[in-house]
Amino acid sequence: MDTKLITPFKRPDGTLVLAHYYAPKPVQQAADYVADSLELSRFAAQAQAERIVFAGVRFMAETAKLLNPDTEVILPDAESTCSLVDQTDMERLAAWVAQAKARSDKPVAHVSYINSSVAQKALSDWIVTSRNAEDIIGHLIAQGQRVLFSPDRNMGAYFRYLHPDWDLRVWDAVCEVHDAFRERELDQLFKGWTDGPKYLIAHPESPLPLLKRAHLVGSTTKMLEWVNAYQGAGTIYVATEIELVQTMQAARPDLDIRLAAAYTGCQCHACPYMKKNTLAAVQAAVDGRGGLRIDYIDHALATQAREPLFKMLNFNPENQDAKQSCSQC
Ligand code: SF4
Repeated sequence: MDTKLITPFKRPDGTLVLAHYYAPKPVQQAADYVADSLELSRFAAQAQAERIVFAGVRFMAETAKLLNPDTEVILPDAESTCSLVDQTDMERLAAWVAQAKARSDKPVAHVSYINSSVAQKALSDWIVTSRNAEDIIGHLIAQGQRVLFSPDRNMGAYFRYLHPDWDLRVWDAVCEVHDAFRERELDQLFKGWTDGPKYLIAHPESPLPLLKRAHLVGSTTKMLEWVNAYQGAGTIYVATEIELVQTMQAARPDLDIRLAAAYTGCQCHACPYMKKNTLAAVQAAVDGRGGLRIDYIDHALATQAREPLFKMLNFNPENQDAKQSCSQC
């Protein structure tokens, strides 16, 4: 997806419209900037905007507000939540973290995926995205820490599969969109296939049996880059949200790119929360006629939540490697 401005929303000066790759395509086309959650977080942190209208889901708009406390941040639809957030009971999570830290004989780091509430971020030592989670958790494990990873069960299971030696404990919530992909349905798609090679690329929020079969497991940006650079022939099945698959299909009309299959539901693979960002809802938020103003975050909680976020934004895997490999100091 081209991230430059295409057909902008009508908006007053100083208002910036950010859109996630899973937002409806017309909204992406009219937004100022389209990216994955890490890139949007970085962009929001550097933005000099007076207002940000965030065409994503609630935790993303809250993250933008944490990074831009003096900026007005509007979420077009208050119901744009995320199943990973909704499935995480904060009392249970806090008890899990407290118990693990109290009982451990070594340092424990609670690492939260960015798909989390402000309260969860405040309970975390680090925040990660699907793009940097493996690097950051690997860095903490190399320091001799035990890592508690929340909330995504599938992503955590994948890291345990890749690194069986990691001291990693995982919480139990899923993305309802990616968790619906199944190996059995993939086998049915592949069955009897004789017409050229077939590949599977998958987002790490998908179930582990599927991830084990994938040629590439990666964030939205990593999958897009892979597709854009792909030089071969054959069919590429993609286990991720429909909007991103359509972006891939538009970027590479020469390739046969298809959705992987789900075990249940309508097979649309659309995130219902992202789809609440209709053109009308975003324009109403831009005009000040609608949307949820992110002005309810408690100051002390925001201060706590900002700390692990900034740790992530300042994390540089190359610097960490250099620090670890230096034997002189
Ligand atoms: Fe949450 Fe999944 Fe929707 Fe992303 S696609 S916002 S992780 S429910």
